[in-house]
Order: sequence, then structure tokens, then C-alpha cells
Amino acid sequence: MKIGVLALQGAVAEHIRSLESAGAEAVAIKWPEQLHDLDGLVIPGGESTTIGKLMRKYQFVEPIQMFAKQGKPLFGTCAGLIILAKHILGNQGQEEPHLGLMDIEVRRNAFGRQRESFEASLAVKGIDEPVTAVFIRAPLIEAVHGDVEVLSTVNDEIVLARQGHLLACSFHPELTEDKRLHQYFIEMVEESKKRLSV
Ligand code: GLN
Repeated sequence: MKIGVLALQGAVAEHIRSLESAGAEAVAIKWPEQLHDLDGLVIPGGESTTIGKLMRKYQFVEPIQMFAKQGKPLFGTCAGLIILAKHILGNQGQEEPHLGLMDIEVRRNAFGRQRESFEASLAVKGIDEPVTAVFIRAPLIEAVHGDVEVLSTVNDEIVLARQGHLLACSFHPELTEDKRLHQYFIEMVEESKKRLSV
């Protein structure tokens, strides 16, 4: 099983380390051709406008949409969550979606200046003990539609959600020693691999 981390900008090395320590083979993805032999893909946190621009420049948009269409899992964290969303709200109002894959409405930089970054302990559906989460200029999931399942909230705000083979969170799971969310994603990839090989 091989999981890629989109390596255009952001916390790439940290995700690779987390995936490896959770037992997966992980590779930095710099070119669309590299998507072919992957079973899953992580889109890291960083700056969504920059990642989006680079995705268009290096022609990643369609290949990643195809990758998702094949049923292969994607995990977007922080800026990566914004990249996955169908609807984005920013400071200037509505923004163009990037991949437009996941049926969620997100608001960028939603926690305000005084809470630019903070840590929280989260109850997560499907994981027994609370997960430590680091939020940095984090987006929020304001609404979910269709078959999107809410997996965790902070003060009633949605910060982790799943839609079938798509997983997205507002925070940075790769910046803590807690590997359980990466493990959760690895299990999603294992399941989809089994399903796709039948
Ligand atoms: N604020 C960033 C954005 O809007 C996301 C922050 C992050 O990934 N830590 O793209």
C-alpha cells in the first residue's frame, strides 16, 4: 500500500513522517504521473490559495478528480480541507472551489485573530480516546450535505468529516505524536484497496 502526500506547498514532510510511523509507505507527489501507483493521497495544510494555484499550474486538478472518481481515498487537512470542498467562503465572500469534491461548506480563517492557533482535545467518532488537535488559522466546516458524516466538533463547530472515501479536518494531525487519525486514513485506504481489487 502506497500513500502520496501532495508536495506543492505546506506540511509535506510531517505527513510523510506520520504516515510512515503509522505503518504505511509514503511518498512526496510532485508530478501528476506519480498518482498512478498510489492507493491514497493526502493534501496537506499550508495556504490554500497557493496550493490551488500550483495545482492548476502543474495540472493536478483533473488527475486528482479522476483519482477520487476511481474510489481512491483522499485526506485533506486544514488548507487541504479547503482544497477538497465544493463551497468556500473567504474574507471576500464566495471563492472558486479548487477540486470541488466534498459536499461541505467551509469558511477560511474562521476562528478569528485572537485564536489564530490553539490546541484542543477532540472526541472523534470511531476512535476510542480523545485526539489531540492543533489548529493554525484553521477553516471550519459550516455545513455538510448529502452523505457527509460529521466525525468531530469543537464548541458545536464541525472540524472533522467524512464522505465515503473522502476525509477532511480543520486541524493539523501531522504536528502531534498522535498518529490515530493517520491510522484511520490508512484503514480507509486498505478498505478501498480491497474493494477495488474485487
Ligand atoms: N488559513 C489557511 C488557508 O486559508 C489554512 C491554514 C492551514 O493550513 N494551517 O489556506
